[in-house]
Amino acid sequence: MFKSWQPLLNQALNLFLKPNCPMCDRTASAVFCKYCQRQIQDCQLPHPDLYWQGDLPLFAWGKYESSVKQSIGKLKYDGHRSIGHLYGEWLANSWQKSIPSGSATKLVVIPIPLHPEKLASRGFNQAELIARSFCQITGNKLDLSLQRNRSTVAQFGLSKSARQENVAGAFTLVNSAFKPGDTVLLIDDIYTTGATVRSAAAVIRSIQVKVCGVAVIATGRIDK
Ligand SMILES: [Zn+2]
Repeated sequence: MFKSWQPLLNQALNLFLKPNCPMCDRTASAVFCKYCQRQIQDCQLPHPDLYWQGDLPLFAWGKYESSVKQSIGKLKYDGHRSIGHLYGEWLANSWQKSIPSGSATKLVVIPIPLHPEKLASRGFNQAELIARSFCQITGNKLDLSLQRNRSTVAQFGLSKSARQENVAGAFTLVNSAFKPGDTVLLIDDIYTTGATVRSAAAVIRSIQVKVCGVAVIATGRIDK
């Protein structure tokens, strides 16, 4: 007797429990509603490896603008962790379609850490959420040995030398267990000036471990 009610009950519960779209509050069958998902995917870069060159090559899923900017805000400041997981999947799919030259088939994936105080107040590190689902799909190894020593002020508006000074000494490796020949890929949510990731890469390279580049969800790249 109860069996026949089960599917109906499940449907009703799903309808009730399914979170609405974090962007517009409409009902959503996935993380975002179809409308917002389309808006976000319009910001996807046709060539994510466009900046895969130079000292620290950059791989970016999309442009840091409009809906992408808004959704990353929803992830970081409103605690919508599912957005981080979804972006990790999209980044992984994009990466697998066009694995850039100079990277390796097996990577050690390191998310850019938050300062412990910021981590405690936010409750999670968005770069780690992205990196976790990136690794689940690509089969690469997640490594959390990079830690942030101190807070840095927002980089925007600082001169190049002030930006470098701001992040110098910001990171340390704690209990790292790299093997000879390991290649690291750094992961962050956004890339603007690149000073933060360059400082992280320098710490890893200082112990003779190769860093092939950085992969991010979005870039509003402003360095020249
Ligand atoms: Zn929506």
